[in-house]
Amino acid sequence: MPVDIRDVEAIIAAQNEWRAQCLNLIASETTQSPAVRAVQNSDFMGRYAEGHPNTATETNRYYQGTRYIDEIERMAQQEMSELLGARQVDVRPISGNAANTAVALGMLRGGDSVIVNSTDAGGHISHAAIGVFGRRIQSRGMLLKTGGDKAIPMHFWPLTADHYHIDVPAALALIEQVKPRMVVLGKSLFLFPEPVNEIAAICRQYEIPVLYDGAHVLGLIAGGAFQQPLREGATWLTASVHKTFPGPQRGIVAANLDPEQEKKYWQPVDRGVFPGSSSNHHLNTLPALVVATREMRAHGAAYAHATIANAQAFARALDAAGVPVEARDFGYTQSHQVAVNVAGFGGGVAAAQRLEAMNIICNYNLLPGDADPKAPSGLRLGVQEMTRFGMGPDTMGALAELMADALKGKDVRDAVVALRARYQELGYQ
Ligand SMILES: *Cc1c(COP(=O)(O)O)cnc(C)c1O
Repeated sequence: MPVDIRDVEAIIAAQNEWRAQCLNLIASETTQSPAVRAVQNSDFMGRYAEGHPNTATETNRYYQGTRYIDEIERMAQQEMSELLGARQVDVRPISGNAANTAVALGMLRGGDSVIVNSTDAGGHISHAAIGVFGRRIQSRGMLLKTGGDKAIPMHFWPLTADHYHIDVPAALALIEQVKPRMVVLGKSLFLFPEPVNEIAAICRQYEIPVLYDGAHVLGLIAGGAFQQPLREGATWLTASVHKTFPGPQRGIVAANLDPEQEKKYWQPVDRGVFPGSSSNHHLNTLPALVVATREMRAHGAAYAHATIANAQAFARALDAAGVPVEARDFGYTQSHQVAVNVAGFGGGVAAAQRLEAMNIICNYNLLPGDADPKAPSGLRLGVQEMTRFGMGPDTMGALAELMADALKGKDVRDAVVALRARYQELGYQ
C-alpha cells in the first residue's frame, strides 16, 4: 500500500490554483513552460554525477552509469555557451548563490579585500559581510563589520546622489586606493546597467578580476536587451537561471577567457564549483535547462525587450496613479524591475501584506536611505512573469490602477482575479 499523500497533493493543488489567480510581481520568479516542467520528472532525479562529463578518451566522473547524464550536461554547457557567446560555461552550480560561492572559494582567502554593492544599495546578501564574500575574506579575529580596526576588508561602491548608479570617478579612485583582490558588480534591486566598461578598464591595469552577478538580469542579457557584461570586460558572469531566465532553479558561471587567463581565473572557479560549492548537482533539472536555453534562443530577444517595455510602462502608470516610483529622472528603469516608495501607504511590510490579500504578490524592499532594515519603505516589482503570460504595455495601466487602489485600501481582489484570468497562456516557448 503506498502511503497516503492526499494532504500533500491538496497543498500542491491549492498552490497551483492560487498562484494562477495572482498577479505575480516578484522580480526573482517566473512560471516555467510546460516543456521545462515536463522534462524534470525522470530517472535523472535519483542519480549522481560529480566532476565533468566523460569523453571518449577521458574518465572525469566518479561514478558509473553517467552516459546520458554526460550527454545532457555537455548539451546544456554547449547551448548556454552559444547563447551567451561565452567560451567557458559551468552549468553545475545549483543556484546563483552556489555560483557566487564557487567564485569566492576559488579566488578569495582570508584578508583579501573586495569592493561590492552594499545591501542598502541593492546588493545581494551573498555579497555582504555576512554572505559568502564577507565570510571568505574574514580572518580569525576580524569582525563581520565594515569600518574600524577589526573590520573585514570589504568596501562598498560609492553612489551618485540618486543612489541608483555607481559614481564612476569615485569608484575608480576607490579601486586605486584599495587595490582589491576582486570587485563585484550587479545586484538584487537592479534598475540600471553597471559601469562595467569603465571599471573593467582600470581593473585590467592592476590585474583585478571583475565578477558580474547577473542573477536577476540573465534573461535580459541573453535576450540582448541589457548590457553584455562579458563583452564589456567582466571576468566572470554568475547568474541564477530562473529569475528573468525562464529555466529550472539552478545557476551558472560563464566567462570568455583566453587560455592563459583560463588557468588563472577559470581553473580555481572550476574547483570552487566542485568540490567547493556543490557535488551532485540536481540532475533532473539539467534537461530543463537545455529546454529553457532553446526557448531563449528562439524567443529571448522578443521576451526581453517586451519585459523592459512593460516595466517602463508600468512605472509611468504607477507614478500617474499616485504611487511614487523611484528613479523618475532616469526614466524609472532599464530592467524588468520597478521600485516604488510606499512610505505613504504604511511602509513596505504593511503594503506588501495588503497587496497579497488582494492577490498581488511582491516583496518589500529597502530603498536608498532607509535607516532601519526592519522598516523598509519600498516595494520591488518585476514584470517578467506577467510578460511571459502575454501582458503588454496596454495592460500595465490596468495593473497599475489595481495596485494603486489596493494600496489605498480598496478591495480589488475580484478585479485582480478577473484580469489574471485573461492571461493564462505562456508565450515565448
Ligand atoms: C537572487 C540573487 C542571487 C542568488 O541566487 P539564488 O539562485 O537564489 O541562489 C545572487 N545574486 C543576486 C544579485 C541575486 O539577486
